[in-house]
Amino acid sequence: MPKLPYADGGLDRGGSRRADERWISGLLSEQATVIIPMWRDSCLIDGADRVRQCAPAAADLLAACGQPVFLGVRAEGAVFAADLSELDKPTALSIAGATAAADIRALFAGLSGPDAAALAYAKGMLRWHREQRFCGACGGTTQAGHGGHQRSCQGCGRLLFPRIEPTVITLVTAPPEQGREARCLLARHRGAKPGSFATLAGFVEIGESFEDAVRREVAEETGVTVGEVSYLGSQPWPFPSGIMIGFRSRALTEAIDVDGDELEEARWFTRDQARAANVGQRHDSIEHYLIEDWLSESD
Ligand SMILES: [Zn+2]
Repeated sequence: MPKLPYADGGLDRGGSRRADERWISGLLSEQATVIIPMWRDSCLIDGADRVRQCAPAAADLLAACGQPVFLGVRAEGAVFAADLSELDKPTALSIAGATAAADIRALFAGLSGPDAAALAYAKGMLRWHREQRFCGACGGTTQAGHGGHQRSCQGCGRLLFPRIEPTVITLVTAPPEQGREARCLLARHRGAKPGSFATLAGFVEIGESFEDAVRREVAEETGVTVGEVSYLGSQPWPFPSGIMIGFRSRALTEAIDVDGDELEEARWFTRDQARAANVGQRHDSIEHYLIEDWLSESD
């Protein structure tokens, strides 16, 4: 599988150095350092749809966001993210020198691979900070440390680390049989447009392997029993805190019985039918690659 979108920001995350506050503050005084301001999960863009990056000398920005979150160092210099979510939108735009707020996925086609990855990483980290201001054990307030890669509870001392929620995503296939072509199983989710079919996906539960999560999700949603499950690749999906783990899986049964809860319908598609239905067209998603990978094969 090729390098997937959002997967490589070209950043050295400085895992062994970011606990060093002097190192972090030194980076924040370097001219080559950039700070990516964000507002409530959105990028801040200028009139030409360019994502705003600020210099660390932007005193307004630092006063508004508190301590920026360290993302890493790349060839051009260090990269931080700053959260302006506490401000109203006009004030956030003004401080960032921006004219509008926009979602990363809407900007994806115009972003370089490393920039898309860095922005997704920034979005996920800033959301985590906003949602972990209190300790889940004692209710005490938490404080950021280690360049923003941990929070510690001021009440009980518990340490909190950024969490991700794993989701399995799979293309279920039925191999060719005598007189029949290979097929894949695609589903239309509740609320999706008519004719809009997608791969199956679901959250991994506690106490469950990725492979078992694939088998459970496919069975729950479509009634199809899956046997062999093969790992293909993974994709960061910090929208807000996911990672997609991609698999090809092989059906042992073909009868479909949709749950009617998450899915409207599910169908088997030959390669020609899948092409004609124009499936997998979100190019920033691992789903596109799972489907293209299969379409590129021949029986
Ligand atoms: Zn606590």
